[in-house]
Amino acid sequence: MALRPILSYPNACLKEKARDVANLTGTESTLITDMVETMYAAPGVGLAAPQVGVSQRIIVLDVDHESPGTRLITLINPVITEREETIVWEEGCLSVPDFTADVTRARRVLVTGWTPDEKEQSIEADGLLAVALQHEIDHLDGKLFIDRISRLKRDLYKRRIRKLQRQGKTPPARTRLSI
Ligand SMILES: [Zn+2]
Repeated sequence: MALRPILSYPNACLKEKARDVANLTGTESTLITDMVETMYAAPGVGLAAPQVGVSQRIIVLDVDHESPGTRLITLINPVITEREETIVWEEGCLSVPDFTADVTRARRVLVTGWTPDEKEQSIEADGLLAVALQHEIDHLDGKLFIDRISRLKRDLYKRRIRKLQRQGKTPPARTRLSI
């Protein structure tokens, strides 16, 4: 097991559409173990493989950090098959340090995918879990939550990051759970 570095905006890997997983080998199972450890250490409620530089359709989530592991979800090749109603949630992201914004998403979703032991899995989710699933699946499509906010807000964030980069600084550490 090992922690993997989390890539941040504007790393190009975060803009790529990730590939479907066709075979689950030792490489993928090591990746999944590392992703889970990296997510809890961050701390975050979810992590997608592209965030650690692997362009494959794998996500891990745990929205219950009070008792880590009991609600851990690992999904391979996840697909959203149903969406109901809308919800606005203030989102943050491990790959978008020091920034949060309100994002509108579906309040309830049905997501299907595969478990690491190759069983088909369906998850009905609402609230934070629904938001987190949509946020992670967006990562697999090369999308960040800042792509879902107004251009004006996004531009403010981009300018702040460019300024920090010019000054050779990195954004301050996060203080809240990110997705
Ligand atoms: Zn994220």
